[in-house]
Amino acid sequence: MRFESDFLVIGGGIAGLWFAIQAAQYGTVTVLAKKDARESSTNYAQGGIAAVSSKEDSFQEHIQDTMIAGAGLCNEDVVRSVISEGPPRVEALVRLGVEFTTRGNAQMDEFDLGLEGGHSKRRILHAADFTGREIIDKLFGIACENQQIQFRDHHIAIDLLIHPRDRTIAPRKKICGGAYVLDSREKEVHTFVSPTTVLATGGAGKVYLYTSNPDIATRDGIAMAFRAGARIANMEFIQFHPTCLYHPKAKSFLISEAVRGEGGIPRVKDNTPFMERYHPKGCLAPRDIVARAIDNELKKRGDECVYLDITHRDPEFIRSRFPNIHQQCLSLGIDITREAMPVVPAAHYTCGGVIVDASGQTDIQNLYAVGEVACTGLHGANRLASNSLLEALVFAQRASDASVRKMGERRDDAPSLPDWTSGNAVDSDESIVVAHNWDEVRRLMSNYVGIFRSNKRLERAKRRIDALAGEIHQYYWDFLVTNDLIELRNLVLVADLIITSAMMRKESRGLHYNINYPVTDDAMWRRDTIQWRGYG
Ligand SMILES: Cc1cc2nc3c(=O)[nH]c(=O)nc-3n(C[C@H](O)[C@H](O)[C@H](O)COP(=O)(O)OP(=O)(O)OC[C@H]3O[C@@H](n4cnc5c(N)ncnc54)[C@H](O)[C@@H]3O)c2cc1C
Repeated sequence: MRFESDFLVIGGGIAGLWFAIQAAQYGTVTVLAKKDARESSTNYAQGGIAAVSSKEDSFQEHIQDTMIAGAGLCNEDVVRSVISEGPPRVEALVRLGVEFTTRGNAQMDEFDLGLEGGHSKRRILHAADFTGREIIDKLFGIACENQQIQFRDHHIAIDLLIHPRDRTIAPRKKICGGAYVLDSREKEVHTFVSPTTVLATGGAGKVYLYTSNPDIATRDGIAMAFRAGARIANMEFIQFHPTCLYHPKAKSFLISEAVRGEGGIPRVKDNTPFMERYHPKGCLAPRDIVARAIDNELKKRGDECVYLDITHRDPEFIRSRFPNIHQQCLSLGIDITREAMPVVPAAHYTCGGVIVDASGQTDIQNLYAVGEVACTGLHGANRLASNSLLEALVFAQRASDASVRKMGERRDDAPSLPDWTSGNAVDSDESIVVAHNWDEVRRLMSNYVGIFRSNKRLERAKRRIDALAGEIHQYYWDFLVTNDLIELRNLVLVADLIITSAMMRKESRGLHYNINYPVTDDAMWRRDTIQWRGYG
């Protein structure tokens, strides 16, 4: 079937919902979510949203903190503009009913402001430790009541509708007219046509075996944009959280860095602490150093996890300071007042993505990218904590403004686009192939393209990914598409983009560390790694 709307938003996290609510003032909006409508990384955001909100703080300090974290690759103009748009965006959230934790009256200077690694001032607005859920609750509620917005959950976008499809034509001369979408419950592919398409598909954590991200994070948006011809930047910069619970039943559960802040000690299997060997601050070393140290210990010893031990603190303190972590671990049979938590570093945030301009516009006409899928220039080589929700809001607002401005001129050049055909594809009788390849991609990315990289590991990973990509490509054309197959096709492509960017960058910087090039080389490499499919 064919569906039409003025705006097609692929993704229902903070970026997609914000865009949808704004654009709905001017036209009809379809919002796609590939699983449950509320399942997104946004929903799990704990810490909060960074914005200058107190008299003790200043834009200049927030800018400086962001630039330092970004290790020389932030775009200063973008950093300045995003940070100065923080307060109005937060005010708009509050006007829509989002309740941040306060210390008294709900006035701007009365918010309870959190402090996080890399921030020189308290500036993290939060709703206890479930900020993302509070934001999604409010935005989702508003969007659901809006007659102009139609949600389609369990609808996974497969590919963008691009006109002309000829690969010899430069991306900026191409027009996006919507997307092919699989209704995964009805097992039917539909054509969603729209003069404005917005990628708001979130992150790529699932490319790795251990991740803090939910299952939806397979970076479909990057893969679709790349296949359509758009440029992709800085894919080597994957942020790893040092401590994700290692337990077969604890999918993606983060152990907050505050545990180390309150005295938690990472130990190897025989109980020996190791952080003192890696950094003068020992257990309180920055996030990336701890993640690197844990990864190194695991690789050296062949162990599956290390242990985060806070048992030396008073049990009552542990229960009251970390009620959620205590409860979650207890439900899995781990009493953290008496035993250490098994943890591993986990892929947490993707700094790179689809290159966009200041309005969220990609290289392809009528195609926008907002939120974690985009590379705006804000994060550079490393994201400052809690800047991502801010970036998503700012760019979703700008993309909505820009696409609304273009509404008049768009309809005349609406391309005629063919519907989906399945060709000779048949139902797969070999689902094991998909399951096996999923597992292999994630394992090889964790082992060879994780926190510590080397030329040899990257070359090995590249050879294996090329072989897997060939197999999966063939499988994709032979069999009818399913949710898992669509995700696997995207996952292997995104893995390839990460490996290739990592091989291009012959230095270590920010989140990318290659033991063969341990030093930062500003003369050669103070620049983005950019990939595109090529044309001409
Ligand atoms: C555990 C955790 C804690 C975090 N804590 C913080 C924090 O405290 N502060 C902060 O700033 N950031 C935090 N982050 C990062 C932040 O949450 C994300 O960067 C941000 O929420 C991304 O928002 P988004 O709208 O771009 O994507 P998401 O919220 O991930 O939404 C993606 C949407 O796209 C849909 N989708 C994906 N692919 C397709 C497809 N092919 N077809 C249809 N729909 C599709 C999904 O169904 C989903 O609706 C955290 C992340 C995690 C995982």
